[in-house]
Amino acid sequence: MTTSDLATILVVEDEISIRRLLGNILELSGFRVLEADSAAAALKTARLRCPDLVLLDLGLPDDDGSRVLAELREWNAIPVIVLSARSEENEKVRLLEMGADDFVTKPFGSSELIARIKAALRRSASPDNVPALSVGPLKIDLVARQVTLQGEAVVLARKEFGLLALLARHRGKVVTHSTLLRELWGPVHANDVHYVRILIQKLRGKIEPDPGAPSLILTELGVGYRLAQ
Ligand code: CA
Repeated sequence: MTTSDLATILVVEDEISIRRLLGNILELSGFRVLEADSAAAALKTARLRCPDLVLLDLGLPDDDGSRVLAELREWNAIPVIVLSARSEENEKVRLLEMGADDFVTKPFGSSELIARIKAALRRSASPDNVPALSVGPLKIDLVARQVTLQGEAVVLARKEFGLLALLARHRGKVVTHSTLLRELWGPVHANDVHYVRILIQKLRGKIEPDPGAPSLILTELGVGYRLAQ
């Protein structure tokens, strides 16, 4: 799948009003829509129809949505965006580490939802590492390990570049604190969240046009960070 316009989205949601609303939003944006109102129906439809992305509600009548995610992940790498009324940070972290691509907390804005879907589809269409990318005034060359801000070279320490590169490889997707800690400091430091906070602060000081109001590296409170689209 290379164009999101033709992508098929499986909407897993038991509340009919929300399911219809989602269906309308998606169809208006040019997606094909499949619907499932239970965990069992979701897994069956995913197997039979091979959608390009799953929007997954967590509170389903026959099972928890996280069990659907776990089962999907046993045989399939299809992007899954979790729709949740739950704002608990621990739950978000758990789902991301189980392999969810992203989450959208209800009530959600339709433009935010569509942006998240398009970003997830783009990532799944080109899973290979991009050699270089631009985020607003920032240019990141992952191969040459060079970063420029408005054309001016930015000198980053090794770990600062490592952090930026990690976020860049998952652009648009939230990367959890523990993933950042494991990748940059090793598994022993998986709980030392303050390491990440300090490094983020240093990195923002060097690359954000206004470090006090970050627009490039966005905070997902209690969960992690994402590089802006
Ligand atoms: Ca529900």
